[in-house]
Amino acid sequence: MLIVQKFGGSSVADPERIKRVARRVVEGRKAGNDMVVTVSAMGDTTDDLIALMKKITDNPTGREIDMLLSTGEQVSISLLSMAIKDLGCDVVSLTGGQVGIKTNEVHTKAKIVDIDSKRMRDELDRGRILVVAGFQGVNENKDITTLGRGGSDTTAVALAVALKADMCEIYTDVDGIYTADPRLVKDASKLKEVSYDEMLELASLGAQVLHPRSVELAKLYKVTMHVRSSFNNKPGTIVKEVGKMEKEVMVSGVAHDYNVAKIGLFDVPDKPGIAYRIFNALAQKNIDVDMIIQSSMRNNLNDISFTITRDDLRKALTVVEEIQPEIGFAGYTHDEDVAKVSIVGAGMVSHPGVAAMMFEALAEAGVNIDMITTSEIKVSCVVDDKDVEKAVKSIHNKFKLNEIN
Ligand code: ADP
Ligand code: ASP
Ligand code: MG
Repeated sequence: MLIVQKFGGSSVADPERIKRVARRVVEGRKAGNDMVVTVSAMGDTTDDLIALMKKITDNPTGREIDMLLSTGEQVSISLLSMAIKDLGCDVVSLTGGQVGIKTNEVHTKAKIVDIDSKRMRDELDRGRILVVAGFQGVNENKDITTLGRGGSDTTAVALAVALKADMCEIYTDVDGIYTADPRLVKDASKLKEVSYDEMLELASLGAQVLHPRSVELAKLYKVTMHVRSSFNNKPGTIVKEVGKMEKEVMVSGVAHDYNVAKIGLFDVPDKPGIAYRIFNALAQKNIDVDMIIQSSMRNNLNDISFTITRDDLRKALTVVEEIQPEIGFAGYTHDEDVAKVSIVGAGMVSHPGVAAMMFEALAEAGVNIDMITTSEIKVSCVVDDKDVEKAVKSIHNKFKLNEIN
């Protein structure tokens, strides 16, 4: 079998943990498997590098950010390879560029466009274990790019696709996917399995346990993911296609996201083409807009509010200032002290009243709702960020998610 394993930052946070990962990889090898391993930077290295950068400048270019952040993963691949070698296995560490991971041009949130697997095939044919730097690739100019925070999960799935791996295991610091972040909700239940669609929503709505793009790729190429703990041998959660019959559960999980900021534009002229101009200007700068709300018109003027990630707030405000004279809205506000709380469940469509139950839970917790969006399998509310914890707990209780299994 060809197995791809990914170990997150906490799994390689110190020398002892790196050696533990090495033993697990070697175990797989000695059982006769081809092993391709991808790792994140040690512990909080990526955060530390960002903090260091902020001491130098407020205005770094994307290219230099990626040059800096990609170094964290290079430390881990070399150390892990040394540890594996000491256990008597042939091994080689490789950067994203060396294994042929090609991305688009978008620094700090690049997308993988292709993987040339020849080098990996050659190394595997020589009987080596491959240790690949997660989170990075190279663009057409061979400049290093990174895939967005948490992007090593995506490296793992992309390698599994390129090599047609039999298994893709994501090792992390929790035992699997839970009905809510187990750090926040102590009695959250572990899900035995979760569908790609639900996992994609959970990940996109803030459950940082998997990078959204990794789930998108897994769904597209039908890669089964196994999310499990690197600290024990318990089976984790299987992410796969789940048949309609099994989608009985109304709500599978609650997600929350603090990386949210809100911008409101006042007295925007109500005529065709305005929304296009605003949101196209943001898209040109690669700013992802999440929720959009336009209030009802009075005197041919609207208010338009939208949310983006907090990371993009500065960039978005610059765009807003640039387009204000041309579009002619009266003013704007912004708010960083907001967060998003969401419920996800494939069974929601066939159970009317799910959204109302969520609002009831928020009302009981005394939490005010600022914005709402819904889709077939999710409901999201923007709330004050200091209310997140009580909101999540109250919703988790309301849907009895502690009893889900
Ligand atoms: P890694 O370094 O292994 O990539 P992350 O910190 O990126 O780990 O993701 C694991 C964390 O995700 C857990 O420690 C947990 O607090 C958080 N998390 C958020 N939502 C969930 C969820 N629904 N199920 C499991 N973990 C979750
Ligand atoms: N080291 C990167 C980060 O902290 C990528 C990852 O961990 O997946 O975001
Ligand atoms: Mg992660």
